[in-house]
Amino acid sequence: MLEQHPRGPDHSRMTQQADANASLAQRDLRHIWHPCTQMHDHQVVPMVPIVRGEGPWLIDANGRRYLDGISSWWTNLFGHANPRIAAALAEQANTLEHVIFAGFTHPVAIELAERLVKITPQGLEKVFFADNGSAAVEVALKMSFHYWLNQRHGEKTRFIALTGSYHGETLGALSVSDVALYRKTYAPLLLTPLLAPSPDAYEGEPGESPEHVATRRLEAMRVLLERHAHETCAVIVEPLVQCAGGMRMYHPSYLSGLRALCNQYNVHLIADEIAVGFGRTGTLFACEQASVAPDFMCLSKGLTGGTLPLSAVLTRQHVYEAFYAEYNAGKAFLHSHSYTGNPLACRAALETLNIFRDEPVLERNRALASHLAARLAPLHDHPNVADVRQHGMIAAVELVADKATRRAFPAEERRGLRVYLHGLEHGALLRPLGNVIYFMPPYVVNEGQIDHLVDVAIDGIARAIT
Ligand SMILES: *Cc1c(COP(=O)(O)O)cnc(C)c1O
Repeated sequence: MLEQHPRGPDHSRMTQQADANASLAQRDLRHIWHPCTQMHDHQVVPMVPIVRGEGPWLIDANGRRYLDGISSWWTNLFGHANPRIAAALAEQANTLEHVIFAGFTHPVAIELAERLVKITPQGLEKVFFADNGSAAVEVALKMSFHYWLNQRHGEKTRFIALTGSYHGETLGALSVSDVALYRKTYAPLLLTPLLAPSPDAYEGEPGESPEHVATRRLEAMRVLLERHAHETCAVIVEPLVQCAGGMRMYHPSYLSGLRALCNQYNVHLIADEIAVGFGRTGTLFACEQASVAPDFMCLSKGLTGGTLPLSAVLTRQHVYEAFYAEYNAGKAFLHSHSYTGNPLACRAALETLNIFRDEPVLERNRALASHLAARLAPLHDHPNVADVRQHGMIAAVELVADKATRRAFPAEERRGLRVYLHGLEHGALLRPLGNVIYFMPPYVVNEGQIDHLVDVAIDGIARAIT
């Protein structure tokens, strides 16, 4: 039974609106189990029912607006309920909603594959579709292993990942992730990757340049490959920004050095651009900043502009050819998902690429990113901020208990949660990763809206550290 709230003639319109939120939240909590959530938190943390989106804004049942400072988990590029994408989807829904993708194909997937090959780094020629980021990572891991098996290198069974990495939540993707919060519990179920120390510039020695950290970490990777390349299928990395690991950033020279090492030691390079692809770091793909082409590139999140789940793994012609044989050779990649190549999702992706084609998105982002940097600059001197870092449209502020020693606030204190709650009260969706407050807004924000996000964050930080 829904709890009935007393409503008399004296009750304001505001109270009735608040009831709309409360009633949806109550119904939600009766049956829904939310992702990445200790549901018990909702005894004190409000569940926010969103009924409408409009550009960078989310609007709750009560009519309150929240600026989506994190692009709804890094997916949204061109605003909520984007009219171009919505119109394309409506047309597609009335034309072809779905068709089996084995033995059958459709024009939207064909055009999307052609265009992805065109815009991604040279050498990536084949596209395998899946439904979400984690599934794309599974595909890349399986394909890499299977490629070596088909090449009579069945002894290659391991993967190298970076410390602090995140590649998703399914067992394979979680296996190559190193965020303890998500991984630790399931460790007995997982593959054991070889971990190489991250080139994360925050972990550098005092005064050490990001480029120098990268060089030092490449040497550690070389040592690891020297010992383990014979049993290693691939190295998997998040190019330039380790997002879920706390928006940790590194110098592009690490990627070019890693590309050379992977060639030298004969292992694949998997670039997980699920979060950083589609303009986030200032270039269309982060790999471009190091002029490297990986052997596998995983794309999702922004691929559909944040409207529908879809992912793609791009790989090279010679990888494809290692699977291409007479059927009874048993070399085929028999992986599938029911909704592979879903026409609606592909259509949303195509319209997203059309927006990149028709509008000066990257130029506009450069201006927005420098505005964001200018607004965050004063935080460098904040007594509880150890680092302010940015790659294009991702900026992060590292809160610490002690600036000189960079001693972190204990995780149990949940300082970031206070910033989150402060944001909700002040019309901004900020969702810190532990003690890291970050900004990853949709590309349709304007400078005034960036100011709003930063102002709310600064006040929220003041509340969080007291
Ligand atoms: C989000 C993310 C994933 C997982 O994608 P899902 O669609 O959430 O499964 C994988 N890799 C990176 C780098 C991500 O940020």
